[in-house]
Amino acid sequence: MITTQNNQQFTAQDACPCESGKPFKQCCEPLLEGRSNADTASALMRSRFCAFVFQRWDYLSRTALNSDPNEEIQQYSADKIWCSLKILKTKKGSEKDTSGEVEFVAFYQRQQESAPKTLRQHHEHSHFQKIDGLWYFTQGLAMDDIKPDRNGNCPCGSGKKYKKCCAQ
Ligand SMILES: [Zn+2]
Ligand SMILES: [Zn+2]
Repeated sequence: MITTQNNQQFTAQDACPCESGKPFKQCCEPLLEGRSNADTASALMRSRFCAFVFQRWDYLSRTALNSDPNEEIQQYSADKIWCSLKILKTKKGSEKDTSGEVEFVAFYQRQQESAPKTLRQHHEHSHFQKIDGLWYFTQGLAMDDIKPDRNGNCPCGSGKKYKKCCAQ
C-alpha cells in the first residue's frame, strides 16, 4: 500500500497515474524502484509524473541533469494534488534516439483550496537526453494553459465529462 500526496490509498495493482492504462506495478513502479530504466523519453516523463504523485524526490533528482535542489521541487509540489497527465506531443525520444522532446499537461488542484477546487495546469515542453543508455530530463519550458476537450473525461479524475465538471 502506498499513500499519495492526496492521502489516498493506492496499491501497485491500481492503474498507473501516468495514464498508460497499465497497472502501476507493470508500468512506472519498476522505474521508480530502480529495477528497470525508461526506454523512451516519454516513458521517463511519465515516470517523473508518478514521482511527483508519490513524492519520490530521489527519483526526480536521479533522472535529471542539473536538477533543481530537492527542497525547491518539494516546495513547488507541496500544495498540489496531481490529478492526471496528458501527453500532447513527442518528438524523437525513441529507443534509437539520444535526444527527445515531450509536450505535456499535468493537471492539479490546490491542497489548501476548499471545494469545489479549481482545476489547474502545468503545461510544459520538456527536453530529454540519453547518456550511456539512460534518459535524463534536461530542461522544461512553461507554456500557456490548454483547453481540455469539453466532452472528454474531466482531467480532475471525477469520471464525469469535463463540461459537466470542472469546466463549470
Ligand atoms: Zn506509468
Ligand atoms: Zn472535474
